[in-house]
Amino acid sequence: KRLAEAGAGHGTLVIAEEQEAGKGRRGRGWSSPAGTGIWMTLLLKPDFSPSRASMLTLVAAMAVERGIRAATGLETGIKWPNDVVTGGKKVCGILTEMSAEPDLINHVVIGIGINANTEEFPEEIGSRAASLYLETGKRVKRGAVVARVLEAFEAYYRIFLETTDLSALRAEYETRLLNKNETVCVLEPGREWKGTALGIDSLGRLLVKPADPSAGGVKTVESGEVSVRGVYGYV
Ligand code: ATP
Repeated sequence: KRLAEAGAGHGTLVIAEEQEAGKGRRGRGWSSPAGTGIWMTLLLKPDFSPSRASMLTLVAAMAVERGIRAATGLETGIKWPNDVVTGGKKVCGILTEMSAEPDLINHVVIGIGINANTEEFPEEIGSRAASLYLETGKRVKRGAVVARVLEAFEAYYRIFLETTDLSALRAEYETRLLNKNETVCVLEPGREWKGTALGIDSLGRLLVKPADPSAGGVKTVESGEVSVRGVYGYV
């Protein structure tokens, strides 16, 4: 963010060997020990409306998912909206933040944390965190993963820019969406409900058909304050 304010350009990528205060959404921590992971932030200075920026987090998830698959051959997928998952566990978290005026974006920073060569996790996240090393049994060259992720990001970002929404990416996103046609628990602040995830709309919202017939038809769930969980586990 400091670099962005000091004039660093669109497309600047910052990679850290260690994060002392890695974070997720809503003040949650992100475990990022030295030397093991890919802790990076991509700076964008787009000229579209701030209302479009939250969709970039789904574009980034698509890029990480494809990049990891290309670099390692692992079977991966996306847990809506932007967790990349392998073997039912989270291998990457993404946090997108924006600095904007009412109708223009100063910058967007997309923070991406990929557990690459992690050998063990702190106990509290061990049951739902995966690393590329633990899943493949092989150490990865982190630079190669970064390169594949950014190649994929460039390709998807170009498509996103044509409409500044996900209409042209939605079908591909859904082929990677692990929640599709599965029962999800929607955790809203102060309320929790279950339904079947049908896919996303062109703004990246999750379409969920409530299990409770009296709840009415398909709901569009916005990612801001909401998490989804599987019924039997994390996905
Ligand atoms: P969800 O819990 O639905 O994934 P979220 O999108 O809010 O919600 P993030 O902000 O992406 O989650 O990540 C924060 C959470 O990820 C932490 O609360 C912790 O449970 C977990 N976590 C922290 N470090 C790691 C890590 N290195 N690998 C996998 N999971 C982690």
